[in-house]
Amino acid sequence: MIQLKGIAAASGISIGPAYKIGKEELVVPRDQIRPEDIPLQIQLFEEALIKTRREIIELQKRIATEMGQEEAEIFDAHLLVLEDRMLIEEVISRLKRDQLCVAYIFSEVLKKYIDVFSRIEDEYLKERTADINDVGKRILRNLLGKERKGLGDLKEKVVVVAHDLSPSDTAAMHKENVCAFITDIGGKTSHTAIMAKALEIPAVVGVEEATAKIKAQDLLIVDGAMGVVIVNPDEETLRAYRQQGQTLKSITEKFFLVRDVPAVTIDGKSVEINANIELPEEVPSVKLHGGLGIGLYRTEFFYMNRKDLPSEEEHYQSYKYVAEQLNPYPVIIRTLDLGGDKFLSQFEIPHEMQPFLGWRAIRFCLARPDIFKVQLRAILRASVHGKLKLMYPMISGVEELRQANKILQDAKAELKNEGVGFDNDIEIGAMIEVPSAAMTADLLASEVDFFSIGTNDLIQYSLAVDRTNEKVAYLYEPAHPAVLRMVKNIIEAAHNAGIWVGMCGEMASEPAFVLILLGLGLDEFSMPPSVIPEVKYIIRSVTLKQVKGIALEALKLSTGKEVEEYSQQKIREILK
Ligand code: PEP
Ligand code: MG
Repeated sequence: MIQLKGIAAASGISIGPAYKIGKEELVVPRDQIRPEDIPLQIQLFEEALIKTRREIIELQKRIATEMGQEEAEIFDAHLLVLEDRMLIEEVISRLKRDQLCVAYIFSEVLKKYIDVFSRIEDEYLKERTADINDVGKRILRNLLGKERKGLGDLKEKVVVVAHDLSPSDTAAMHKENVCAFITDIGGKTSHTAIMAKALEIPAVVGVEEATAKIKAQDLLIVDGAMGVVIVNPDEETLRAYRQQGQTLKSITEKFFLVRDVPAVTIDGKSVEINANIELPEEVPSVKLHGGLGIGLYRTEFFYMNRKDLPSEEEHYQSYKYVAEQLNPYPVIIRTLDLGGDKFLSQFEIPHEMQPFLGWRAIRFCLARPDIFKVQLRAILRASVHGKLKLMYPMISGVEELRQANKILQDAKAELKNEGVGFDNDIEIGAMIEVPSAAMTADLLASEVDFFSIGTNDLIQYSLAVDRTNEKVAYLYEPAHPAVLRMVKNIIEAAHNAGIWVGMCGEMASEPAFVLILLGLGLDEFSMPPSVIPEVKYIIRSVTLKQVKGIALEALKLSTGKEVEEYSQQKIREILK
């Protein structure tokens, strides 16, 4: 039995066998297709070949400048594989004959080629096996849009163990067959961790060398709240964790009882508790946990795990569904926040040195008004079906806000001309998640209807700590005095301007910080649905006077650790 320590990403205790996913593993679905889909499948194959060719030429250029022409020529053999008529024709003829998706057909043909080449006696030809394998993997990855598929096909409940998982990998998981996951790298507020919370899959990230220390089928205990993984536990440990799992379950059930009551303090101060969602499929979970509205709908997941861009109609149907489901309560749609740790294959955005500081979120949308406007038009159209609000991510100053609003005005004018109805008074908000926005919150406040504080990013930008990097995770402190002061400043600026202010970063769902935020005067808290009952319970257990005092004391402390300890002690007293 060994114990590994990592970063607690999504709470809950799960026990199951390890299912390892290699960095390069590509599981290809054996999907049947209809005869009329054959031309599209051929087109996908051609596109994947073209894309692979482009990638190899790029790589060849880089190698030529960094290492020399001779080394770069190695890739000539790779390019030749891409032009192999026999291989291409075999894929197309089998596609027509077998009517299975092209990715599957290609993987089968590839296997056959590798098998034949590896059995040839000639040394030169034998070496070509590696080239074919390498290029073949590239083509396959492009055919699959780089997703790791197949998790949905698991027959038993497993604990997924991977070096890293992208947010879209996580989004493809199902609770029925993945009972927990562990990764070698990653941070607490990475979107992979956020997705795990949304799916209620216990997760520990940043477990150093998890993939090296854990073997397939090892029995694992994953404690997502403590960030602990136990490999091949003895009987006694297993019994203790099963017991703890039961205790946790009964505590959750206790909180669950108050899920439908309003979030009001003992002395009558009421606040709004909303849910964060990534996909419309989470709406039932919001309702189940007593959430009334949506404080953050992360729409970028809509663009993931697919090869094309969503059409205006697709956007519209999703937003309409969510708006209708939660009507008359608000649904805040956050416009596309691509970039950082959320990559979308369709856009082929070049890899950046510092993606979180790069071409991200509103910056991307302002540069691509064609893509941005499709989403804005859909949100406006859907606004007649409920109470929609919209907010822009990563606003860094007034100019960006005005530019975004200008595109929104254009979208409104277009719809008016077309005679399409929308809510002309739809509330517009800015996410405050960049320090420059936090420091100029007074200037921004006069240009919007509300603020939503995105602490996941605000913390990483103000403390200069990559939110996805386990090596600096110890510096990622929501309770850091700098963060508390910024939050206080933002809330005051909003209230001085007469607008409301919420928080949709993970900090809003941390029980200990709820007390401080309530004391600082936050109007709305938005969080993963499963935490809603607990936060309501906390709010109903305190008075406004009490939490104002707690916030005041917290602001006097000098370090994040001190604030954390102080607020933990307060929450323990309150929850007993
Ligand atoms: C945030 O940054 O706090 C936030 C809510 O947005 P995201 O986590 O999607 O970046
Ligand atoms: Mg953010």
